[in-house]
Amino acid sequence: MSGATTVVEFDAVSKTYPGGVAAVRDVSLRIGRGELVAVVGPSGSGKSSMLNLMGSLDRPSAGRVLVDGHDVASLSDREVSALRATRIGFVFQQFHLAVGVPVLDSVADGLLYAGLPLRRRRAKASAALERVGLSHRVHHLPHQLSGGERQRVAVARAVAGGPSVLLADEPTGNLDSASGAAVLTLLRELNAAGTTVVVITHDREIAAELPRRIEMRDGRLVADIEQSTTIGAPR
Ligand code: ADP
Ligand code: MG
Repeated sequence: MSGATTVVEFDAVSKTYPGGVAAVRDVSLRIGRGELVAVVGPSGSGKSSMLNLMGSLDRPSAGRVLVDGHDVASLSDREVSALRATRIGFVFQQFHLAVGVPVLDSVADGLLYAGLPLRRRRAKASAALERVGLSHRVHHLPHQLSGGERQRVAVARAVAGGPSVLLADEPTGNLDSASGAAVLTLLRELNAAGTTVVVITHDREIAAELPRRIEMRDGRLVADIEQSTTIGAPR
């Protein structure tokens, strides 16, 4: 369904964890191809739970989650793994880069699932690193990079395979404000070049700059607002 315009669809989705915490309650939404969406809300409001459902890292307790038109509940574990590996890119607050592995290989390893030969994986990794502005760092090791650079490597790894959607869970949470702003600018650039992006942030200023804002509270979607943006359209 690569031509479909809806990338993520929730139909009355709920997630209750073992022990009874209702983290997501009856949420319905659609995210279209090419959108850039901010998810905001207080700590514990269900933002990460919702993103994990979007990314098929978790399955709903009730309702339906569709990614690229595929009903996650109807897929086998293997099919879910394939969906996740080929169509979904994740970026988390903590940058999980393997210690002692050069940047280029870290990004290329993210493409192992695609079954490409090493040379092709390296070529794609190199292109992704160029997109995030790190062509000059490909042979560096993680400890030789700043936090902002490491997060940009994580973004390169997430987009190297050309996912249908990039899901970012507080990607600026561990960064100083300048590096955080650079990562946000990068997400905007990737979006402008066609990548669908959903980003959780607790930064109201950041959220206010993005074209659509979904607000969570106590597991419920309490607002879904299209906003006019000024950045990127100076006049
Ligand atoms: P947010 O990302 O907005 O801070 P979360 O989705 O992480 O919110 O958490 C929503 C609620 O679900 C919280 O009450 C949290 O404690 C609970 N929760 C999150 N993950 C789990 C889990 N794996 N098991 C049990 N409860 C969880
Ligand atoms: Mg969270």
